[in-house]
Amino acid sequence: MTLDLAAFAKDKGIKYFMISYTDLFSAQRAKLVPAQAIAGMQEEGAGFAGFATWLDMTPAHPDLFAVPDASSVIQLPWKKDVAWVAADCMMEGELVGQAPRNVLKKLVRQAAAEGKRVKTGVEAEFFLITPDGSKISDEYDTAEKPCYDQQAVMRRYDVISEICDYMLELGWGAYQNDHEDANGQFEMNWEFDDALKTADKHSFFKFMVKSIAEKHGLRATFMPKPFKGLTGNGCHCHISVWDNDGRINVFADREAEFGLSAQGKHFLGGIMKHASSLAAITNPTVNSYKRINAPRTTSGATWSPNTVTWTGNNRTHMVRVPGPGRFELRLPDGAVNPYLLQAVIIAAGLDGLRSRADPGPHHDIDMYAEGHLVKNAPRLPLNLLDALRAYDEDEGLKQAIGLEFSEAYLKLKHQEWNAYCSHFTQWERDSTLDI
Ligand code: ADP
Ligand code: MG
Ligand code: MG
Repeated sequence: MTLDLAAFAKDKGIKYFMISYTDLFSAQRAKLVPAQAIAGMQEEGAGFAGFATWLDMTPAHPDLFAVPDASSVIQLPWKKDVAWVAADCMMEGELVGQAPRNVLKKLVRQAAAEGKRVKTGVEAEFFLITPDGSKISDEYDTAEKPCYDQQAVMRRYDVISEICDYMLELGWGAYQNDHEDANGQFEMNWEFDDALKTADKHSFFKFMVKSIAEKHGLRATFMPKPFKGLTGNGCHCHISVWDNDGRINVFADREAEFGLSAQGKHFLGGIMKHASSLAAITNPTVNSYKRINAPRTTSGATWSPNTVTWTGNNRTHMVRVPGPGRFELRLPDGAVNPYLLQAVIIAAGLDGLRSRADPGPHHDIDMYAEGHLVKNAPRLPLNLLDALRAYDEDEGLKQAIGLEFSEAYLKLKHQEWNAYCSHFTQWERDSTLDI
C-alpha cells in the first residue's frame, strides 16, 4: 500500500514537502510544496526545467516531473514542519533513463530477477569548516595524528550528537561517531540496508549534515580532498548480497577463505575487473584524483588506494574483506552520487556473477610500503579524463549500467573536464612564466 502523503502531513503536522531528486553531478534539487497541494503532486509529480540541472537536457525539452516515492519520506527531525521525499524523474509519462535514482532502481530490479538482494553500508566522511570554506573550523584541531581525538570530537559534540540523535530518532541504527584521520574531519556510522534505502539515507545524510552544520554557524564539506596534505573524504561502501527474502547472506561461507563465498568472490571479481572504469563514477570530480593518488598525508597514510588490489582485514588496499560475508570497497569518495555509487556496484558485481569473474590473487601486504612488490597490479586512473576514457572503453560496464545513462554521463563529465582544462591556474604561471 502506498503511503498517502496528504494523510501523512495531517497526521504529523507537516506544512511543506521537499520533493527532491539528485542530478548526475550529485546536486540535490527540490521544490517546496505546501501540504495542501501534495495530493496532486503525489500523482503527477512536481514540474522542473530539466536543462536547469545536470541531466543532459536542452531548454527545449518538455517539463521534467519529479514524482515522489512516498516510501522514502522523512519528516525533518530538526524542522518538523517539513518532510523530505525522494522523487523519480519522469518525462511525458516515461521514466528518464539517465536520472540516477531510476538507474539504481533498474539495477535493483535486475538483481531481484536474478534472485539477488544487495545490501550496503556507506561511511560518508566530512569536514566541518568555516562558513567561507577556507579552513577547518576548530583552530585547536592541529594534532599530527588526529584520528579518534577525544578532545576534538567533544569540541564538536553539539553538532555530532544532534545529527546522531536524529539518526536514532529515524531508526537508522546509528552506532558510532568519531573524529577521523584529518584535522576537522568526522565520520558517523549507521546500519547497512538495501541498496536503494542506503542511497536515500546517504542523500538525506548529506543534506542533514550540511543543514545542522549551518545551524551551528559552520559548514560541512564532503569534497574528496579539501586540504592539501590532509587525508581526504572517502565514502567506503560495505557490500553483501542476500537471497530475495533477505534472509540468507550468499556472500557468507565460514569455510571459505576470509569467510567470502564463491559468489562473493565472483561479485568481487566484477568490481576488480571494472575498477579503473567505474572510478569515473565512484571518483567523479577533478579533485577526486588528488585523494586516490595523493602522497602520504601528515597523519602518515592517505587511507585511500591507488592500485586495484584486494586483501583480508588490511586497510591499504582498494578492497578489504573485514569479516565473513561482506567486503569493503574503499575507492569511492565524498563526491560520489549516492544512487550511482550503488548502481555501479550492482552493475559490476552482477557482471562478475554472470561471468564467474575471478578477483585474482589477494596480496596480504602493506600496499603503502610494499606495493612495488606486486607485479601487474593495475593503477587506478591518474585523473578524471583517464577514468572517463576507461569508462567509455568498457562496453561491458556501460551495457550493465545502461547505455542511455552512460552516454549522458560521459557527455556532461567531458564538458566538466574541458571546463577545468580551460581554467588558468597560478601553478602554470609559476612554472611557465620564465621559461
Ligand atoms: P570501518 O570503518 O571499519 O570500515 P564502519 O563501522 O565505519 O567500518 O562501517 C561499516 C559499515 O558496514 C556500516 O554501515 C555497517 O552497517 C556496514 N555493514 C556491516 N555488515 C554489513 C554487511 N553484511 N553488508 C553490508 N554492509 C555491512
Ligand atoms: Mg568507518
Ligand atoms: Mg571503512
